[in-house]
Amino acid sequence: MPRLTREQLRQELEQIAHRTIRLTLTTNASSYVSFRPDRDPLDVRLQRAFLDAPDEVLVGVGRWLGGRLRRCPDVVDRFINCPPPELAERVHTRRRDLKTEGRCYHLESLLERVNRRFFGDTVRVRITWGRRLPRRRVQARTLGIYYRGENVIVISPVLDQWLVPQWFVEFTIYHECLHALQSAGERPHGTAFRRRLRLHPRYGEAMQWEKANIDVLTSCIQPAQQAACRVHRTDDVRQLGFPW
Ligand SMILES: [Zn+2]
Repeated sequence: MPRLTREQLRQELEQIAHRTIRLTLTTNASSYVSFRPDRDPLDVRLQRAFLDAPDEVLVGVGRWLGGRLRRCPDVVDRFINCPPPELAERVHTRRRDLKTEGRCYHLESLLERVNRRFFGDTVRVRITWGRRLPRRRVQARTLGIYYRGENVIVISPVLDQWLVPQWFVEFTIYHECLHALQSAGERPHGTAFRRRLRLHPRYGEAMQWEKANIDVLTSCIQPAQQAACRVHRTDDVRQLGFPW
């Protein structure tokens, strides 16, 4: 059983945010928090994982929703990037319809390439595009995520555009394949993981490309709201945000 019910979570957030909140829980993989700050009541979509979030994370979310913070607080970032493994498994067990054919990239064939080139075809994992969200929402997102419970890699649809080079999509898949190969108790972005990530021949280039193309990666969000948004790197070595 989760720590809180949906109604308890909603009330908790209302108290902290001092706003009336309409709360929808999602199993969305590429967006954990999304809301329209200009609406009343505040229309909030939260990933189900937040039902088990510790108090300090809820306080962070509540203050962000209440408009008292300009960006997603670090404590929430950390929760999104590294939810406790047992939580990640429990939360994402719904049956998922896999969608591998994107507008620009076909994930199945990119996964095959990455698997053959770097892992000798040993990674047994499924892959899908995450869902697109309506425009004009403030969101905290990740570029990719691996769900151990479902053994599926979900790639953010922001990567499904020609402005994003194929090798960068493949690098993101490589990153998630490394997660798929980790043992359940291993720290998701621990030292061993980062060492393996750096073995990728285009690691440095990928870091630079992501930094230089932050606008491409947030292009589905209206410019006026970009200031409130933060793109999460797919590893937590260094997180990119907008300069404040
Ligand atoms: Zn990762």
